Amino acid sequence: MEIPLSGKRVLVTGGTRGIGAAITRAFAHAGSSVLTCSRSGGEAADALARELKTTPGDHHFLTADVSRTEDVEHLVDACRQRFDGLDVVVNNAGRITHVPIENLGMDGWREILDTNLTAAYDVVHQAVGLLGPGASVINVGSGSALAGIHHRAHYTAAKAGLIGLTRSLAKELGPRGIRVNVLSPGVIQTETELSEEVRARYRSMTGLGRLGTPQELAQVVLFLASDLASYMTGATVCVDGGI
Ligand code: NDP
Repeated sequence: MEIPLSGKRVLVTGGTRGIGAAITRAFAHAGSSVLTCSRSGGEAADALARELKTTPGDHHFLTADVSRTEDVEHLVDACRQRFDGLDVVVNNAGRITHVPIENLGMDGWREILDTNLTAAYDVVHQAVGLLGPGASVINVGSGSALAGIHHRAHYTAAKAGLIGLTRSLAKELGPRGIRVNVLSPGVIQTETELSEEVRARYRSMTGLGRLGTPQELAQVVLFLASDLASYMTGATVCVDGGI
């Protein structure tokens, strides 16, 4: 079944690599117009921008660090000017570090909280005026949020915080016809190198016996963004191969 997303105006944060790039491509190929950003630009961003130029739709790439409120303002302004509104927001940009708690200072804590949690709040806070009835916000969380992982207290705290943010926004924005959900991935094989030992360990934890692909997450994002999910809000949707 084709997912009805033609003509939708979509903001995806962190769209140059990994899951965000797959989500950006999937919306563009579904006939939506996509504005995406990354913190550093570079070759990945140039390659994506070149690819989007040859894909039908009104697509844009900006350099913006979503952990900086002035960059979020710039991003949201660009959506206002280019699209005059938004139908879908995907808060995908995320960062992870692996640090034992005794070495995790305030700077390390804040960097991860700012990127994975505060940025999602800030994007919705600044963009909510662009969203109307039928709009969908998707926050990319992590299955690790509720399981916990050693050396990732800051990351899992941020991702768990996204669930609370999402539940409250679903209640606050529901009366305006705006849905807000969390996508909770398991282990997804992106460009980030994982050793064969680590991959084998993660594979063995899944029911399906393999890691997920960015495209498999993007498919679920398209569903959550579309009217096919019109009665879904406040949900945490696990896409983890059965961990
Ligand atoms: P990647 O590291 O592969 O890509 C992250 C993207 O986000 C890049 O485009 C990066 O741009 C961008 N980004 C990072 N920080 C910022 C920022 N401050 N402002 C703007 N853009 C930023 O990540 P993944 O694709 O693996 O992960 C995507 C999301 O999925 C994240 O939220 C992650 O936590 C979540 N997730 C991923 C899992 C996995 O197995 N891969 C599992 C569970 C959750 P740049 O290169 O310029 O920094």
